[in-house]
Amino acid sequence: MNQSDQKFSIEVENTNKTCPIGETIGQRNIHEKRVPVLSCEGACIRGEIARLAANIVAKEKGFARACHGELFSVPHSAMAEWVKQAEQVVLIDGCSLRCHGRVLQNLQGQKELAQFNALSVYKKYADVFDIDEVPEEERRQAAQQVADTVLAALKKAPTN
Ligand code: SF4
Repeated sequence: MNQSDQKFSIEVENTNKTCPIGETIGQRNIHEKRVPVLSCEGACIRGEIARLAANIVAKEKGFARACHGELFSVPHSAMAEWVKQAEQVVLIDGCSLRCHGRVLQNLQGQKELAQFNALSVYKKYADVFDIDEVPEEERRQAAQQVADTVLAALKKAPTN
């Protein structure tokens, strides 16, 4: 079996805690049927641009930013419930490794996942890791370019 065909799992210590504001926002988003927007949250410039782009997309009417930490590690949270029951989920990964896309596509109850690779849109900074090596305005411009591409694609192929 090819390595890329195999799946693996990570053990997570459970918790009985919840995040108060996460519960409020999760419940609101369930009630308003908002489309969750996630990014890979990677620590490098690619993850940062994906994160900024997700923030821009989430400002659109009917969308909202989702917390991947709660989704992956607090399964009883309203945030996780919202994402798992959503009819459409938007995910912007920072690069072709698709670190969150490979997890999200296997989450139970995930009906429709619109996945995007931010780097394939702005195609820069391949040899840069640190976020601060790219000026803030350039980061913002790259993120806007990614967000515009994501929104145009979603408009072209709405799933609900
Ligand atoms: S998808 Fe790319 S940028 Fe995002 S966490 Fe993975 S390696 Fe980092």
